[in-house]
Amino acid sequence: MTTLNGKTALVTGSTSGIGLGIAQVLAHAGANLILNGFGDVDAAVSTIASEGAEVMHHPADMRNAEAIEAMFTAARDRFGAVDILVNNAGIQHVAPIETFDPGKWDDIIAINLSSAFHTTRLALPGMHARDWGRIINIASVHGLVGSAGKSAYVAAKHGLVGLTKVTALETAKTGVTCNAICPGFVLTPLVQKQIDDLARRDGLSPGDARARLLGEKQPSGQFVSPEALGNLALMLCSPLASEVRGATWAADGGWTAQ
Ligand code: NAD
Repeated sequence: MTTLNGKTALVTGSTSGIGLGIAQVLAHAGANLILNGFGDVDAAVSTIASEGAEVMHHPADMRNAEAIEAMFTAARDRFGAVDILVNNAGIQHVAPIETFDPGKWDDIIAINLSSAFHTTRLALPGMHARDWGRIINIASVHGLVGSAGKSAYVAAKHGLVGLTKVTALETAKTGVTCNAICPGFVLTPLVQKQIDDLARRDGLSPGDARARLLGEKQPSGQFVSPEALGNLALMLCSPLASEVRGATWAADGGWTAQ
């Protein structure tokens, strides 16, 4: 089993959903955790502490480069290093391009893409100094294929896949790796909102709306679990994955095999 004893992981957007699930798996493997995000912070911190991890939360807004810098300073003050960086914070907004709110476009590009540039540039010097690091970008199937109504999200996730490849090339001769995980539908608040919108729009029951959303895209007919994504992230942290570089690892119930 991979042990992360003595390592410190920063997971952006880790107060709920996939980020919290990944943080939990990394904490269980022995890592110290820096959580980030909004909402029920106390519940997230106690979930991670219950795994026996040292944990802190930083409320940096991923739209703000200065706040991201402050988060790294606080992380280094507390733990001395960031060894594992999981760029996970993300939001969604669904509308056709003609009516897409420009403010929402800017927020999605800032949170889902630009924040990963800022965290990566801040994490790399320390990782290079120790010649070990893992950068894991939580992209999406939407980093590989498109869906109507998701222009900003698809553009940001394709951008994040591009950033993954460049980061992997710039670190290729070092002990630092960078890879992307590309999940299909995971039942989190981000997807629950899409199910609720679909149920309202088409007068469906919650169960029928859920089945319709999955049925349109995900051949397995099942949601991917945050825990499965956490275990994929843990595998990418292991010595076995030291030469996995610039990969886009789909975990999508067959979505992109079609
Ligand atoms: P979620 O809504 O459950 O969690 C999002 C997290 O990001 C929360 O912790 C939230 O507080 C945080 N966040 C939002 N805005 C922020 C900001 N400005 N600054 C800092 N933190 C902020 O969503 P999720 O489904 O767990 O999504 C997590 C990531 O996984 C996202 O990047 C999303 O695009 C990606 N993803 C999700 C799915 C899915 O089906 N749920 C599929 C593929 C990829």
